Amino acid sequence: MIFEGQSLTCQLLDDGIAEVCFDNKNESINKFDRVTLEELKSVAEALSQAKDVKAAIVTSNKPVFIVGADITEFQGLFANSREELLQWTAQANSIFNAFEDLPFPTVAAINGFALGGGMEMVLACDLRVASTAAQVGLPETKLGLIPGFGGTTRLPRVIGSDNAIEWIATAKQHKADAALKVSAIDAVCEPEQLRDVAITMAKDAAENKLDWQGRRAQKKAPLQLNKLEAVMAFNTAKGMVGAKAGKNYPAPMAAIAVIEKSAGLSRDEALTIEHEAFVDLAKTPQADSLIQIFLNDQLLKKKAKIASKAATKAINTAGVLGAGIMGGGIAYQSAVKGVPAVMKDIRQDALDLGMSEAMKILNKGMQIGKVSVEKMAKTLSAIKPTLNNDDVKPVDIVVEAVVENPKVKDAVLCEVEGLLADDAILTSNTSTISIDLLAKNLKRPEQFCGMHFFNPVHKMPLVEVIRGEKTSDETVAAVVAYASAIGKSPIVVRDCPGFFVNRVLFPYFRGFSQLLQEGADFRQVDKAMEKFGWPMGPSYLLDVVGIDTAVHCVGVMADGFPERMSALANDPVELLYKQDKYGQKNGAGFFAYSKDKKGRPQKVVEESVFDIIGQPSKEFADQEIVERLMVPMVFEVIRCFEEGIVETPAEADMGLVYGLGFPPFRGGALKYADSIGIDNLLQLAEKYQHLGAAYAAPERLQAMAKDGKTFY
Ligand code: NAD
Repeated sequence: MIFEGQSLTCQLLDDGIAEVCFDNKNESINKFDRVTLEELKSVAEALSQAKDVKAAIVTSNKPVFIVGADITEFQGLFANSREELLQWTAQANSIFNAFEDLPFPTVAAINGFALGGGMEMVLACDLRVASTAAQVGLPETKLGLIPGFGGTTRLPRVIGSDNAIEWIATAKQHKADAALKVSAIDAVCEPEQLRDVAITMAKDAAENKLDWQGRRAQKKAPLQLNKLEAVMAFNTAKGMVGAKAGKNYPAPMAAIAVIEKSAGLSRDEALTIEHEAFVDLAKTPQADSLIQIFLNDQLLKKKAKIASKAATKAINTAGVLGAGIMGGGIAYQSAVKGVPAVMKDIRQDALDLGMSEAMKILNKGMQIGKVSVEKMAKTLSAIKPTLNNDDVKPVDIVVEAVVENPKVKDAVLCEVEGLLADDAILTSNTSTISIDLLAKNLKRPEQFCGMHFFNPVHKMPLVEVIRGEKTSDETVAAVVAYASAIGKSPIVVRDCPGFFVNRVLFPYFRGFSQLLQEGADFRQVDKAMEKFGWPMGPSYLLDVVGIDTAVHCVGVMADGFPERMSALANDPVELLYKQDKYGQKNGAGFFAYSKDKKGRPQKVVEESVFDIIGQPSKEFADQEIVERLMVPMVFEVIRCFEEGIVETPAEADMGLVYGLGFPPFRGGALKYADSIGIDNLLQLAEKYQHLGAAYAAPERLQAMAKDGKTFY
């Protein structure tokens, strides 16, 4: 054995081939944490001294190759000064360089995921072979960073700058055959042959049958681009990537800038440019938020995993009541993820529509090559449309998604409960009716909870699992496990009007209405909020949600929280409703809608809308618009946290990002609160106290300010 550590071993095989094997003893995966990096340094040192080694292969003893850097270490690491960070990146890269510069050929044998730092390890090798199960990529821009272990330097030199920019800017993972096409790897083989193929390649390279030296030299030299090619490539890339990423996500553009700047430089010079840019990005609030989101998402996954283990009731089949917008979407989602669903409605036309919607989604997937004919057939046959209640009898879980009417829901839930097996679970997708109220007439309220999906179901990741007063832990665990099994990110919340997401959304809408009543122009408000980062401004969002639905929710929230959310006299949203302007669904709300050539709704402003809601009469600074909408939302999130409606800041923030599209680069409402500063939030509360109780600082905030605490 040449080296044996906690994450890495290195041993000499026959014929002078050394095997460097990543095999983290404490985890089920390999990742580049501090220990692994240090051990790689030791291995590189040992190998550089070893006299009898002719070539080395790099393998993994886990189902993955290396999933990337250890992101849990990032926030601590990035808290260091710029100089310290620069020093760290330089040191880390000197390890990769030392490995790349070994006096013999090196071959990576990629068995599974090789992402981020894992892919950078692969790139530091001279030759690369992947199993058909491998996936490679550099996803760092998703975290607001660029690759920092030489990825922006080596990848363009291996696959060309165009491809490298695409890989890095889109942060996508690539299957082995796709990676082979652009020469990111040199060969693909079946998983069971991988090690042998790598050894053969290593031997061939050692005997100079493979030009490993040429490949290595290419990685250390400037990029082979003439000036015209360079101008064309980089300018086109900047235009495309800039338009897609937008100003709030600087990392993809920074990656292009680094590749462009270092195109004419050698490896070592190029790396110093990469280090500078990496450290600049590591210090941005965007990276901080995106890393936090990654960690929060890990927490959700961990909680779902614990729930899956704890769940005593296995969910193998589902029943969905109602084949409307939501029911159809839920049945599709369940079926596509392998849990067959019976979809029951009282109208054949609703069932037909539900099935055709599922078909539409699958067709779209087929057009972009994501869905195969088999997958389509399998999914469609896993949805059983029916008008007959008896078909629901054998299912393990029911998701009720009929019309939002307490009486109808009560009747439907009681009837279906009588049909189900004793251990079956019953849930409701209601958006506004209390779970405790719906549980009242049920015989087994402990087996009932809310399961609140978001529209469109197949796109929105969030499911709120709403625990009623009597809901058992087993039921919550089984529903969390089911939500997660069908590809959603569940958060468990307690029952209250609006549950968590709508409860915090409506103070935002109320702030918007108040602003309009003071003369703001809804077009300017939308622009300001979109600039803030929301995928759509409040007026457009209200049109999409449905003005009628919003008015109904306003009523529910006003009843639930009269002090903060009482209905406003002449609320512009209600004025629109009274004129039958329901938003996108009937062609007019704040905006008027027509369809473009592809059938997508197109919004225009018709002056007549101002006759209904009043003419704009005052200009507001964008900053004030943002404050007046965001402060009541943030405060309501804090209240929910205070009252235990949501358990952790991480879940609160992920609820908003996954359920509402809260700008990910801001990390969610509580991360945003931290970034504003608790003292500053208290000052905003004072500034806007004249606007009502929704702007009054929650108690927790005062206490936090006193103790100098933050949410994260
Ligand atoms: P929808 O009107 O599109 O669909 C309701 C369906 O239920 C209709 O097809 C109707 O025929 C069917 N139905 C009525 N009575 C029935 C019965 N007794 N048995 C079986 N089916 C019956 O409504 P939707 O927008 O899909 O909303 C359904 C539920 O989901 C509501 O509770 C709503 O509040 C909730 N929700 C809606 C959204 C949204 O954005 N639309 C989001 C989250 C939650």
